[in-house]
Amino acid sequence: MILSGKEVSSALRAGLAAQVATFPEKYGRAPHLAVILVGDNPASQIYVRNKAKACESIGITNTTITMPADSTEEAVLAEIKRLNEDSGVDGILVQLPVPKQINTARIIEAIAREKDVDGFHPGNVAALWQKMPCMVPCTPKGIMKLLAHAGVDPKGKRAVVIGRSNIVGLPVAKLLLDANATVTMCHTRTVDLPSITRQAEILVVAAGAAKMVTGDMVSDGCVVIDVGMDHDAEGKLCGDVDYDSVAPKASWITPVPGGVGPMTIACLMENTVEAFLAKQK
Ligand code: NAD
Repeated sequence: MILSGKEVSSALRAGLAAQVATFPEKYGRAPHLAVILVGDNPASQIYVRNKAKACESIGITNTTITMPADSTEEAVLAEIKRLNEDSGVDGILVQLPVPKQINTARIIEAIAREKDVDGFHPGNVAALWQKMPCMVPCTPKGIMKLLAHAGVDPKGKRAVVIGRSNIVGLPVAKLLLDANATVTMCHTRTVDLPSITRQAEILVVAAGAAKMVTGDMVSDGCVVIDVGMDHDAEGKLCGDVDYDSVAPKASWITPVPGGVGPMTIACLMENTVEAFLAKQK
């Protein structure tokens, strides 16, 4: 069965829009997300535009701050400081990757933790690993919502995650562990990957390697979550999973596009609303 992020995210966004519509009367204003885009990376420009559109459709105020590709780290840090101090801004994110002259870790650390709607700040990462209240990163959060929508309870299941990035692999493994799955993490140094993926009841693939997971690598009934956003030999958008050979074996599978991607943006909107509400207490 197809696990449609398009469908689940639409429902989530509709719920958020209804909630946000009540905010001006209750709290005097709508939530506000500020996005900093440094440089002119075409993919980043598309992501930023999609985030602005999502804000618009939900009623969240959006400011996109574009800075030239040769901006200094100091200039970006100054912009973040200004946004941190602006009480009318609830969420801040810097679109990654940033140009080489800018240190990504320093940028992420500079964002006020309570406004870090991406959930990348070291304080949020530490809190996640300590099971403390935190901003849950958007893509892993979206994956857990997709599993819940499919009625898949990770408890007691064997989950395999391919990829150990800070953005997807590591946090999604932690969320699965917290949901009582038994989690195995795989990466480029993993020996005999297929022997491990074939044990998976839940398989999350976040490797950035087009169609690397093929039908012979999954067992019947596996729930397959494809995080990848790649291009095949013909330049067509595809995931890390070879959909045609894997789908017949999977009990649930996320398509690319229309799977995890839309969930990431919807969860960013949810995190912005959460950051806003946390300030109203
Ligand atoms: P990354 O490059 O930071 O990490 C990739 C990880 O996969 C690494 O840990 C690496 O060891 C592992 N890996 C790579 N090739 C492998 C292989 N052949 N076998 C085993 N392990 C392998 O990437 P990331 O930021 O985690 O993103 C992963 C993919 O997910 C990319 O395609 C990215 O575009 C996509 N992505 C999608 C969304 C979304 O919203 N849909 C969000 C974030 C990332």
